[in-house]
Amino acid sequence: MYQLHKLRWQEKAILVGVKLPQVNRFAAEDSLAELSLLAKTAGAEVLESIIQDRKKIDAGLFIGKGKVEQIKQLCLDRGANLVIFDDDLSPGQIFNLEKILDLKVIDRSCLVLDIFAKRAKTAEAKIQVELAQLQYLLPRLTRGWLHLSRQWGGIGTKGPGETQLEVDRRVIKKKIGDLKGKLVKIDKERQTQRKKREDFFKVALVGYTNVGKSTLFNQLTKATVPVEEKLFSTLDSFTRILRFSRNHNILLTDTVGFIRKLPHHLVASFRSTLDEVKLADLLLHIVDISHPNFPQQMEKVSQILKELDCSSKPTLLVFNKIDKLKGDLPLGLCPSYENEPIFISAEKGIGLANLIASLELFMDEQSCEAEVFLKKEDLNLLPSFYKLGIVTQTEMKDEGLNLKIRAKKWNLEKLKGLANGEDFA
Ligand code: GDP
Ligand code: MG
Repeated sequence: MYQLHKLRWQEKAILVGVKLPQVNRFAAEDSLAELSLLAKTAGAEVLESIIQDRKKIDAGLFIGKGKVEQIKQLCLDRGANLVIFDDDLSPGQIFNLEKILDLKVIDRSCLVLDIFAKRAKTAEAKIQVELAQLQYLLPRLTRGWLHLSRQWGGIGTKGPGETQLEVDRRVIKKKIGDLKGKLVKIDKERQTQRKKREDFFKVALVGYTNVGKSTLFNQLTKATVPVEEKLFSTLDSFTRILRFSRNHNILLTDTVGFIRKLPHHLVASFRSTLDEVKLADLLLHIVDISHPNFPQQMEKVSQILKELDCSSKPTLLVFNKIDKLKGDLPLGLCPSYENEPIFISAEKGIGLANLIASLELFMDEQSCEAEVFLKKEDLNLLPSFYKLGIVTQTEMKDEGLNLKIRAKKWNLEKLKGLANGEDFA
């Protein structure tokens, strides 16, 4: 089977980006800085980053011939053994570039897929990444690519004839079909689980990659008592039920980070994970306020939320990593926001009590209290009331039970229906 390039520890890389006339310099540099972070995450050492100004992309080499020669010399001088391009390359471009440079060339998508493959922990995530990898690979299965695969040791001993290529394409297509089938099945299971979780107050952590979402997730899990773990034993590892206090239980979900130029296939196959964002009652938008480009990252996140139809969802803005700040808060650069932001350091555990208090306040605002009378013959409905809300008071009368209950607004509607049109105060 063919394999995408897997970065090994201590590969020495040169990064290459192109600045086209319609892109501003800042965005081009920022994108390359992010590529550098990605390369380091994958275990490579970044020796240098190069940006070439171009009117348009070169069809054969992506960048100019002279620039390629210059990079070749640089690689020799610095002892690089890998060149990573910030944009997707065609198989032909990779083939041509490798021929001149005489070393491995990969593109951003390939790098990101490599990182996701290493990070994928749950069965679902592994299938999602493998699917994205094969979809990335399929159109690239050409003679040029085979040449590369052989160089990377990804191919068998036989010469790569066209027939062999055709066979391999068929195998990969079949595998893609199988993986998609598996995902559909997992998605169905998810739907069932979601039904079980309907009654919870759902909070999703969103934000740019590396801002500290998972650190916060772990801290909050530690800081609170995870309840009823068993009930959701099949839940994926990135969702936990947290109990802040008797009246405040939430279902917290960690999500994949958003980055720019996320490979298209990866977004598509992670759609069901991103659905968790759509179903949340509240989003916590985590921002790394110590990052020099945090306003741009916030914009990018807002843009993706818009694409997911989630821009009108209630959102609390959380500025993380305040422990790294020196001097004043750099809020002058910040895009406008609706609610007062909360400042924390997830790693040092600063401001978490404040964050939890804001969450509780939000939940209280979202829920309301009602009084309901359950007739004796309807007392079998009582468990639903305890399940969907918090029963704060009960009073037994001759004809039935008087209840005071606090719950999410739409759960109250549901109970209203249950209690046969009883009036809720
Ligand atoms: P995610 O990609 O948003 O899930 O980010 P992670 O939780 O994986 O954190 C990314 C990096 O930021 C890790 O190296 C964390 O140790 C670091 N980090 C997270 N929170 C803080 C913080 O409050 N202060 C500092 N200094 N570093 C943090
Ligand atoms: Mg994370």
